[in-house]
Amino acid sequence: MDVKIDVLIIGSGIAALQAARLLGQQLQVQIVTKSSVDMSSSYRAQGGIAAVTKPEDNTAYHIADTLTAGEDHHEKKHVEALINDGTKIIQQFLMDDLPIDREASGAPALGLEGAHSHHRILHAGGDRTGQVFIDYLLKQLPSNVVINCYEMAYELLLNTDGACIGVLTQGTHGTKRYFAHHVIIASGGAGALYPSSTNYAINTGHLHSVRAQQSVIWSLCNFIQAYYGATAKQKDLSQKQFEELVGFLSMHSADQS
Ligand SMILES: Cc1cc2nc3c(=O)[nH]c(=O)nc-3n(C[C@H](O)[C@H](O)[C@H](O)COP(=O)(O)OP(=O)(O)OC[C@H]3O[C@@H](n4cnc5c(N)ncnc54)[C@H](O)[C@@H]3O)c2cc1C
Repeated sequence: MDVKIDVLIIGSGIAALQAARLLGQQLQVQIVTKSSVDMSSSYRAQGGIAAVTKPEDNTAYHIADTLTAGEDHHEKKHVEALINDGTKIIQQFLMDDLPIDREASGAPALGLEGAHSHHRILHAGGDRTGQVFIDYLLKQLPSNVVINCYEMAYELLLNTDGACIGVLTQGTHGTKRYFAHHVIIASGGAGALYPSSTNYAINTGHLHSVRAQQSVIWSLCNFIQAYYGATAKQKDLSQKQFEELVGFLSMHSADQS
């Protein structure tokens, strides 16, 4: 079966749904996602969203905290874009009634975590931030956004110049060919490749290898985030063993870039 549309988005996490919410206001958008919409890292995210929302804080502090935490392994311009644009987007979400947790005064309830020098972690539903955010985005989708669940993108269609013009998928209705003016890959990470992971088992990073085989350009894929708690529970690792494992993973993932 062939489908022709303006935009095809792979994935149904926060990245995919936010893109669909905005693009769907003017364009025909279809989403393909390999499971149900409640199976993504986004749906599982608990701690919250770091963003500057109060007058005592500012984006320069947030940028400095981020660069310090990452020991300057960043592309600074990308950190600046993420934080400057992210701040504006989150402030818009607050004006659009994203149901975050609030103080009795009505001000956002802000947590303080990790390397942040200011209270700036927004959360929703206690530790259900991701779930609340996904449910909110799903309700906001324009009517011309179609979500196709249980459909897995397994190959990018390229024209003779190597430009991506669509995607092949396999799902409950068999194989489909999507031809789209724009293809957005929002397929998340590959945490399930590791024996101990907080990710769903579907987070296999299949599209990472598809992209590599089809010579799609990668950038900044040098690090894998690891939690001591996730490994310690199942493997009974000491903190020292965990740090050795993190070192190994960082070197290994840097080799793949
Ligand atoms: C337990 C946990 C807690 C977390 N807590 C926080 C937190 O507190 N704060 C924070 O900022 N971040 C947190 N994170 C990280 C955060 O959830 C992710 O960085 C973010 O949600 C990624 O969003 P995404 O839209 O890019 O990808 P995802 O949410 O992973 O979505 C990817 C989507 O792509 C689909 N997909 C993948 N491959 C294919 C394919 N081949 N074909 C079709 N569909 C495909 C998947 O099914 C999924 O729907 C947490 C992650 C986990 C696992």
